[in-house]
Amino acid sequence: MTTPDDVIAAVPKQLFIGGEWVDASAGATMPVDDPATGAALCEVADAAPEDGARALAAAVAAQADWARTPPRPRADVLHRAYELILSRVDELALLMTLEMGKPLAEARGEVAYAAEFFRWFSEEAVRVDGGYALSPDGRTRMLVTRQPVGPCVLVTPWNFPLAMGTRKIGPAVAAGCTMVLKPAPQTPLSSLALAGILVEAGLPAGVLNVVTTSRAGAVVEPLLRGGQVRKLSFTGSTQVGRLLLEQSAGAVLRTSMELGGNAPLLVFADADLDVAVDGAMAAKLRNMGEACTAANRLFVHRSVHDEFATRLAARMGALTVGPGTEPGVDIGPLIDAAGRGKVSELVADAVERGAKVLVGGEPVAGAGFFYPPTVLSDVDSSSAVLSAEIFGPVAPIVAFDDEDEVVREANRTLFGLVGYVFTRDLARAFRVSEALEVGMVGVNTGVVSNPAAPFGGVKQSGLGREGGRSGIDEFLEQKYIALPV
Ligand code: NAP
Repeated sequence: MTTPDDVIAAVPKQLFIGGEWVDASAGATMPVDDPATGAALCEVADAAPEDGARALAAAVAAQADWARTPPRPRADVLHRAYELILSRVDELALLMTLEMGKPLAEARGEVAYAAEFFRWFSEEAVRVDGGYALSPDGRTRMLVTRQPVGPCVLVTPWNFPLAMGTRKIGPAVAAGCTMVLKPAPQTPLSSLALAGILVEAGLPAGVLNVVTTSRAGAVVEPLLRGGQVRKLSFTGSTQVGRLLLEQSAGAVLRTSMELGGNAPLLVFADADLDVAVDGAMAAKLRNMGEACTAANRLFVHRSVHDEFATRLAARMGALTVGPGTEPGVDIGPLIDAAGRGKVSELVADAVERGAKVLVGGEPVAGAGFFYPPTVLSDVDSSSAVLSAEIFGPVAPIVAFDDEDEVVREANRTLFGLVGYVFTRDLARAFRVSEALEVGMVGVNTGVVSNPAAPFGGVKQSGLGREGGRSGIDEFLEQKYIALPV
């Protein structure tokens, strides 16, 4: 049987640079904590800026050879890594639950989702195509080929510790780019384990370098400004994304930005309420609500509002809160004290402004950072819970009367990642999907994520798409060759 001690012991704890596991400068380390207890699980290397520079030097040195490596061997590495991940679902899921908190069943789901990005991009690696055309005056053959953008910096958040990595590493490897990955300091272990798997799968030295650090800004900024990186791919908050866009401007980097969300979930009077409640449960509670795709504002038609709210509160109130490693647990801890503090403040502010608490509403006492599933109704439009990203299991419900009005309200946000629409009217489903200012829409479903689909947002939710046919484009440049004949 796999034990927590076994999976922690099996993960390398050093930096991964140029194909070697190495200590950080001066042997610095940082703790990785278990959010279910608040206690440290282990220490990992804590990189200094010079370690980041070494990692980038390794990526730059490996770039030319990797770009020349044919697509099929690049695809084969990803495919082998996909199989290796699947052969270790239980170990990787336990590791993820320990460092991040999500229940084991969800962690297993994320491992499968993460692996799928490697399978998808192993298939895309060999389908990069180009163009051949005659110029309008007939005098020139116009060839278009596509080449890797070059060394990349990848920065990932803690909420999906494995999938946010594979969603970037997969297309970068497939396209022929080398990279430095900086995972979130709360969840470095999944990325370190992933690096080990890619080594086993045959990834050449220097293609992937992993730098864990508690000093993200000091390590990443010089890399972005230094002139050798060609691309930044970032997933995280809009606030940090803005800062990194500014830092990327100096060297005119290609950027992909997967940023925050504030997803509206619309339940119309004609919705199938069983489907809508199931959808709301999935859209709200996946990852304890710590997802950029989490339903942040639930707009429910006044005629079905009370029934929907009662049913959702009953379902959410029946869930078991506890350490993600324990059987039968539905809702694990939030990531840390700050994350839980923010959720508590948002709920307190909404209640002060008149919201009714239908279930939950107070942090769970004791060790760990637990917050119970919470449903709020009669939420006043001035409440911060409707404009901030909640990142917790809290569902604020607002009643509406009219389709145009609710679409306007749903769009009244700086964010534009995803929206959810529940209706049995096909024309309305299309109308509302097209009117929502978002990059993705779930119609009668609370889950949109799929490696085969273009994931990403509009407005301040980001730039670019990950996954789908366009995911690899983010790591390729077009080159046009004019050939007069
Ligand atoms: P975050 O605070 O923005 O951090 C994301 C990553 O950026 C972490 O690795 C972080 O490291 C690093 N970082 C922070 N400041 C930096 C700087 N100055 N220079 C370089 N790196 C820096 O976000 P988070 O709290 O980890 O994740 C939650 C956010 O991610 C939410 O807003 C969520 O919506 C978003 N997200 C979006 C998607 C999407 O696909 N659109 C997917 C998942 C999550 P440190 O923690 O050490 O600062």
